[in-house]
Amino acid sequence: MAEQKRFVRFLHDGRWRYGLLAQKGVTPLKGSIFSGWERSGRPLPLARVRLGPPCRPGKIVAVGVNYRGHAREMGHDLPEDPKIFLKPGTAVIGPGEDIRYPSMASRVDYEAELAVVVGRRCRNVPKEEAMDHILGCTCFNDVTARDLQKKDGQWARAKSFDTFAPLGPAIVTGIDPSDLVVESWLNGRRKQSSSTADLIFSVPELVSFISRVMTLLPGDVIATGTPAGIGPMVPGDRIEVRVGGVGSLLNRVVR
Ligand code: MG
Repeated sequence: MAEQKRFVRFLHDGRWRYGLLAQKGVTPLKGSIFSGWERSGRPLPLARVRLGPPCRPGKIVAVGVNYRGHAREMGHDLPEDPKIFLKPGTAVIGPGEDIRYPSMASRVDYEAELAVVVGRRCRNVPKEEAMDHILGCTCFNDVTARDLQKKDGQWARAKSFDTFAPLGPAIVTGIDPSDLVVESWLNGRRKQSSSTADLIFSVPELVSFISRVMTLLPGDVIATGTPAGIGPMVPGDRIEVRVGGVGSLLNRVVR
């Protein structure tokens, strides 16, 4: 198995940079994690940097109803094709940033998800080669205004509010995404717990399918769907998404 790296983006001395996360801290990088980088300087202690989202996706392609357990919970039949939708890059926030509860909404849900980050431009990728185009895995919260999703009958508004796409903290390379634990913890209590082994469409199948619809660019994010156990959040709540071997993404909900 390839050596694992944990790529982050961080703010230090007023400047956003890529870095490599390690126990000792964050090692700054020169260049881009997508097109070539090298270490640049000594590790900075984590306490001295602020982590942001690990990339700035041009688009987030998310997948609805992609766990068998969640399909049962929502009363859906298993889909024939992946049900994809888009979330805008403007919704992305990083670890520790606040999810803002929109005044238009009356029910806002967490959805813990494994996300994969596209490493290089691709289209029409066969399933067998899909993982060659993925840089790594990270945690994602597909925050959803559930009342507006039902009211509108299509999902753009419900899924697209600013701050509705917490992402990070690190893009972890060299991870097999086929059996990772995906969990959400609301105020320290576990609400969702499943494995990506329960996915209806696997990560390589999703990458291949989506790349037959649209060109995928470096930094684009594919959010692979949420397991059973979704539920509402209210202002003041702390919501954490955990993906085994990948990380923990904690955000607070504010009015
Ligand atoms: Mg979702």
